[in-house]
Amino acid sequence: VEATVGRATILHADLDAFYASVEQRDDPRLRGRPVIVGGGVVLACSYEAKACGVKTAMGGKAARRLCPQAIVVDPRMEAYSAASTAVFEVFRNTTPLVEGISIDEAFLDVGGLRRLVGTPTEIAVRLRRAVRAEVGLPITVGVARTKFLAKVASAVGKPDGLLVVPPGAETAFLHPLPIERLWGVGPITSRKLRDRGIRTVGDIAEIAEANLVAMLGPGAGRHLHALAHNRDPRHVTTNRRRGSIGSQRALGFSHGRPRSAQELDAVVVALVDRVTRRMRAADRLGRTIVLRLRFDDFARATRSHTLSEPTAHTSTVLAAVRALLRGVLPMIATRGLTQLGISVGDLDDDGAVQLALPFERAAGSGLDAAIGPALDVALDEVRTRFGTAAVTRAVLLGRDQGLSVPLLPD
Ligand SMILES: [Mg+2]
Repeated sequence: VEATVGRATILHADLDAFYASVEQRDDPRLRGRPVIVGGGVVLACSYEAKACGVKTAMGGKAARRLCPQAIVVDPRMEAYSAASTAVFEVFRNTTPLVEGISIDEAFLDVGGLRRLVGTPTEIAVRLRRAVRAEVGLPITVGVARTKFLAKVASAVGKPDGLLVVPPGAETAFLHPLPIERLWGVGPITSRKLRDRGIRTVGDIAEIAEANLVAMLGPGAGRHLHALAHNRDPRHVTTNRRRGSIGSQRALGFSHGRPRSAQELDAVVVALVDRVTRRMRAADRLGRTIVLRLRFDDFARATRSHTLSEPTAHTSTVLAAVRALLRGVLPMIATRGLTQLGISVGDLDDDGAVQLALPFERAAGSGLDAAIGPALDVALDEVRTRFGTAAVTRAVLLGRDQGLSVPLLPD
């Protein structure tokens, strides 16, 4: 086991101006303009509004006075919660070690993924890209050795940024920051410290713990002393057992153009490939196959099918997803499709030796059922060694293995 102490493997991922970004995503007229969500109290504001001095939790009147040109919109909690679900799906596709902090931020520990997926920085770059491509939102990621520092890094890296703090640069990064960057320094503590000429984290680090305790009390004193010295032993802990593994692809608006059957099938094949590979890497088997659709109007629909036995077998899952897709083709034809996702739920640990065996029992009949699991294992090994692009299924190279049912009724 590789030691993780001393390496920056914790990501803090935090969506930028979350509610306001969802509004700008869904209404092009709001892009590049100051947007305030919530008329009474400001629930969120875009960076253009922040530039005028508008802040979250400010009264609506004061906000409009600061930024008269701001567009005020009512909150749409359903849209935010759907976006949050989609972003957390990207998080959980990145690593099983996800600790949600709120609707729009989480810690991810990617320390165990180096050999399989890449360095923490590479993973953070890919995560940001995936959130942008699949959910359409900007996200900032901080990467550091401790949770505390990763969170500070994402705050400093905003908006739409990536900030990596290597272990050797921690003090140089942390100490010049204003004390308000520290967790637990609210207005009262801030005033107490500033009244004594303590302005930066470095200033706090120079004070003996006993003196800080005398100033602020035992809890806050010890806490700030530890943070100023970047001592934060907390691990990333998953809030829930990972119930499903999924992946999705944004397709962009169809603008009335019907999607070809081959196009949709290629997307589905790639998604199933990715998801089942992750399941095998995590030694998980699942029974419930879910197909998720998002239409041109951002409405969503899901279809699911439960298998008689849990599996991580690519062709078994693919067959189920293709059957689900056939059932929704008329709906896709009339409503347009902007996103397609699949997930496999009801996950069990793969306690049995199934994946090590070349043959899976009762997975179907014929050649594919027999060679399928062995082929999956072989492909996973090649990709682990040479990267995911090393092996690509024929359909993804453009060869037509399309659906047997036409996409449009005529
Ligand atoms: Mg946020």
